[in-house]
Amino acid sequence: MKDMLERLVNLQATDEKIVSFQREEAKIPEELGNKEKSIEAYDNQRAEVEAELDHFLEQVSELGKQLEEARESIRRFQARLLVVKTQREYQAVQREGESARKKREDFESELKEIQEEKNTVEESLKEMESSLAQENAALSEERKNSEKRLKSIRKERENLEKTREVEANLIEPDLLARYQKVFNRYKGQGVVKVVGGVCYGCFMTVPPQLYNQVLAQGVVHQCPNCGRIIYVDES
Ligand SMILES: [Zn+2]
Repeated sequence: MKDMLERLVNLQATDEKIVSFQREEAKIPEELGNKEKSIEAYDNQRAEVEAELDHFLEQVSELGKQLEEARESIRRFQARLLVVKTQREYQAVQREGESARKKREDFESELKEIQEEKNTVEESLKEMESSLAQENAALSEERKNSEKRLKSIRKERENLEKTREVEANLIEPDLLARYQKVFNRYKGQGVVKVVGGVCYGCFMTVPPQLYNQVLAQGVVHQCPNCGRIIYVDES
């Protein structure tokens, strides 16, 4: 029975390694997925800024047209001034010309403001695009490394699984089944030491009578509290 327990402890050591590889295998794509999501969120922000820029560009183009019209009408009034016949007509054309000039000034200052805003947005869009490019490059690098890492972990795990099969074959089927049940329940611990009468799985004291039986190593026992298979470590 002592041998059997030792084999079980060996099997558990292998199982623990397998579980830790499995966890890492699951974690790698998860981490990559999180990075992808965060880049995607950033790209959505970039798209919003791009839409904002489009809006400013439209405004700039619209104001540019209005400004050109204002300039055109100033030219028309100037031309008319040359051909007016009366003083009154001259004053009327001049007044209209004045108001067209006022309009032109308003459009000019509005256009200047919009252009400044447009430049600011354009600047941040450029910055976003450049950091996105960097992040995407880093992601594809990481994807490559992750794939390599995954491949090597998978290989190591598969080797361990072969070892595990050999180790499991050395254990009585009933005991193996009992171990497996507890191992699955605790996700990685089916057999634990008892030290000074305390179960190292749940840290409860094992009843003295049971402890003596465990010490005797005649049959395999399970902790009455947590159900893990218990053994005494003599080393
Ligand atoms: Zn226990």
